[in-house]
Amino acid sequence: MPVGTVATVKAMKTSDVKKSGAEIILGNVYHLMLRPGSELIEQLGGLHKFMGWSGPILTDSGGFQVMSLSKIRKISDEGVEFSSHIDGAKYFVTPERSIEIQHQLGSDITMIFDECVQFPATHAQAKDAMERSNLWAQRSKDAFKKREGYGIFGIMQGSTFRDLREISAKKLIEIGFDGYAIGGLAVGEGQDEMFSTLDYATDFLPTEKPRYLMGVGKPSDIVGAVARGVDMFDCVIPTRSGRTGQAFTRDGTINIRNAKYRDDIKPLDEKCKCYACENHSRAYLHHLVKANEILASMLMSEHNIFYYQDLMRDIREAIEEGRFDEFAASHTRRSSLELES
Ligand SMILES: [Zn+2]
Repeated sequence: MPVGTVATVKAMKTSDVKKSGAEIILGNVYHLMLRPGSELIEQLGGLHKFMGWSGPILTDSGGFQVMSLSKIRKISDEGVEFSSHIDGAKYFVTPERSIEIQHQLGSDITMIFDECVQFPATHAQAKDAMERSNLWAQRSKDAFKKREGYGIFGIMQGSTFRDLREISAKKLIEIGFDGYAIGGLAVGEGQDEMFSTLDYATDFLPTEKPRYLMGVGKPSDIVGAVARGVDMFDCVIPTRSGRTGQAFTRDGTINIRNAKYRDDIKPLDEKCKCYACENHSRAYLHHLVKANEILASMLMSEHNIFYYQDLMRDIREAIEEGRFDEFAASHTRRSSLELES
């Protein structure tokens, strides 16, 4: 899912997001409740209409952003009191309020309100956050208005502790959700530890419901997580990297600022069907980035979104044709070229 945090996939028109093949995007409770406000978006006909996106939207509940972006004043079983990172205004969010906001936005997939513990966390800290998240999972489910075509996902917590992940999953399954997210990873533990956590965490989740790894990741993270049984992802990396001049290609990652691209007439990726690759050279993109032109962010972001959608399509095809292991091995070889500086 391309990430449209504040009702925009940054530097991209929704028509171009659609052209990339993306079927669903992500919006965010925390950002939208602060600005422009969920009541206003509801009054204007909901988030789909407001931003001009007709496909499904999944909204993150705000739990993660409250912890990572705002100044927390008080956290209790009732909810979280925090100050906005924009103007310092005070808010109090409960699971019920987060679900209400997602309803006002018109989210197709609502996420439960959870407490994402920082990394590293002690077993006791992770246990506290996981238990509170499970309490909030039940309250989120109770507050969710069930309607045909709309769903709510639970979020598993427990940091990198196997026993906590298992307790979390069991409770979520007992409550019953339309899909299960794995939260609390990609928060600084590194790829090896993320993979070793996923090795057991996905075993605790039902096979017939979607599994969604939140906030992940680099192409190699995605391929490795799919190998461990994950179905869905969201990440700001393609657009954020695009804005800093980094492009993902089938032969690894390139930094278009690098002087060697100043007279390179090749497109970013010869197999890519995005507008930038069909119309412009690396030399032109190099020039735009060096000149700080807005178009650089637009073209690079679009290319990266296309790359990620192509990657997911290639993964799905490889799974359907029974050759995913081979695909993953060859991807790992190529992505060792990742992060050229
Ligand atoms: Zn491209």
